[in-house]
Amino acid sequence: MINQLQNIMARNFKKKNHVKRDYNAPVEAEVKVLKNITIAIPEVITVKDFAEKADIPVVSVISELMKNGMLATINETIDFDTASIIGEYLGVTVEKEAANSSKNRKIEEITSECQNLLERPPIVTIMGHVDHGKTSLLDAIRKTHVTSSESGGITQHISAYQVQLKNAKRKEIENKLITFIDTPGHAAFSAMREHGTVITDIVVLIVAANDGVMPQTKEVIEQAQQNNVPIIVAINKVDLPDADIIKTKQQLSEYNLVAEDWGGKTVMAEVSAKTGQGIDDLLELILLQAEMMELKANYDCKAVGVVVESHMAKGAGSVAVVLVENGILRQGDPIAIGSSFGKVRVLKDYTGKTITEATPSTPVLVSGLKTLPEFGNKLVVYESEKSARESAQQFQNINSNLHVATAKRINDESTDNENLKVVDFNVIVKTDVKGSLEALRKSLTDITHPEVRLNIISDGIGAVSESDVILARATHAKIYGFRVMVSGAAKKIAELEKIEAKTFTVIYELIDTVRAEMSNLLPPLIIEDELGRGVVLAIFRDDKKGFVAGGRVESGRIAAKDMIKVLQDDNEKYRSKIESLRREKSDVKECASGTECGFSLPAHAKVSVGDTFVLFSVRSEKRFV
Ligand code: GDP
Repeated sequence: MINQLQNIMARNFKKKNHVKRDYNAPVEAEVKVLKNITIAIPEVITVKDFAEKADIPVVSVISELMKNGMLATINETIDFDTASIIGEYLGVTVEKEAANSSKNRKIEEITSECQNLLERPPIVTIMGHVDHGKTSLLDAIRKTHVTSSESGGITQHISAYQVQLKNAKRKEIENKLITFIDTPGHAAFSAMREHGTVITDIVVLIVAANDGVMPQTKEVIEQAQQNNVPIIVAINKVDLPDADIIKTKQQLSEYNLVAEDWGGKTVMAEVSAKTGQGIDDLLELILLQAEMMELKANYDCKAVGVVVESHMAKGAGSVAVVLVENGILRQGDPIAIGSSFGKVRVLKDYTGKTITEATPSTPVLVSGLKTLPEFGNKLVVYESEKSARESAQQFQNINSNLHVATAKRINDESTDNENLKVVDFNVIVKTDVKGSLEALRKSLTDITHPEVRLNIISDGIGAVSESDVILARATHAKIYGFRVMVSGAAKKIAELEKIEAKTFTVIYELIDTVRAEMSNLLPPLIIEDELGRGVVLAIFRDDKKGFVAGGRVESGRIAAKDMIKVLQDDNEKYRSKIESLRREKSDVKECASGTECGFSLPAHAKVSVGDTFVLFSVRSEKRFV
């Protein structure tokens, strides 16, 4: 432990605050830098203009948007935040064009106001393979480090809490706070990608010593490295007789996580969520890591935060669990969160205690919002409720623009493609392990049909989460889980928003369901069964009041109310329904093959002597993908 502490202290972290993060750790970035330019764009820009300004093919921009769960075509608009996020992936730095009006507070303005930076607690997420002890560790930390008077006040589980380190070995870090957020691993990362927001400063990767590195362990390592978030490893379940710490460390070293006592740089703690062993050491290591990162925020200016959970609460209406990122959030503050706005009516800490203000890195329950905000949305405090409402309205406009344009796209394509209507079927898939995700992805991409296009909007490992449901709502997608659960919060929103989230334990059943859903989108096949055929011999009447022709039935039969089509040189030139049928001056219901008859059709029927007529019935047949 002491050795580890010294190593951490000796480590040379680049100085930074929480606004711009650029950890100087070795990271295998997935991002391919295509270009390296800076462009200035307005608050809202069309995909085409963005591509032109960035000098990037439009198709690359559209495909990057797709990867981020947004269906947009060339003439649709994207907002500045979206442009900056995809810009990052395309190697383009996006800056805001100087705006004439500065009515609304922009996040950049707020953060630039905040020059007087002070230390803030680290925001930590525990992630790891299922059953490795994430929940137990979060509970153990909460039980041992949240004082009983505080925890007694907790009436419901909320997705974030804070602990204070008492009796630290190093006095400088004693009584310092750590914020833990309990959010599904990938959600924290996808929120960072989608909203460019700081959801976690440090990842505690939990690995059970009796199980070692498993598929989700690898996922977390990859995601943390891609997002440049430092990892602290908690080797858990060390109380078990079959715990093999050395083997676990060996496996981790294959992923560039080499323990400090093995000469590497990765901070590792050996813990037991069951007995409590090593938990204090882990907390101390987290605080030391945070100290090295010099996490800072402003404690003077108005708050900016991020939503980590939202739900409807009895008596309180829409409630958001917000992590204050910068500034101070106060009761009564006018706020906008995405398309929602209001005044902070009640502010509670994670224990449920009413508070009047919340400082950076503090998780708080905020009520007073008009509607339910979404996971990852930014909270911004405004001067007045009016400006908050305007900001929310602007956000909504941008989003509804995207929706309207997406609906239009389907029609646009139908004209391009010789009237073949292509319908999009959007899906979000979640699986238990990477192996099954790959298999599922492969099976799904194998399902093709010229009229229904399957788009995997997002996929990942772990339970179906709130952010999956929110993404499904935004992209009109259906969610399919394979050997995973749907989280309680996700279920609630899915029910409220009528979003389908189905889970399966057999892969073929999932594939069959997707096929069936796609089949439902196909218009049925219209089949015409021939009932009879004949030749037109005479036109008896052709004026504006009606049309009567005479003909001979050569096969089958002709009946009153039959559908009839008229062919000239085998080409159909007219079709209608027979209005009445006559044979030798009397109305009849049917005439058989070999007989002659007269039939009336609507006025101006396109029929000439010598044409062939075909009687037919119509039925529809369901089609399958
Ligand atoms: P999660 O899926 O990662 O949240 O894992 P859980 O916290 O639900 O733990 C999975 C199982 O491992 C539960 O039965 C826990 O009681 C058990 N478990 C968790 N941590 C420890 C530990 O340190 N020692 C032992 N012996 N069991 C543990």
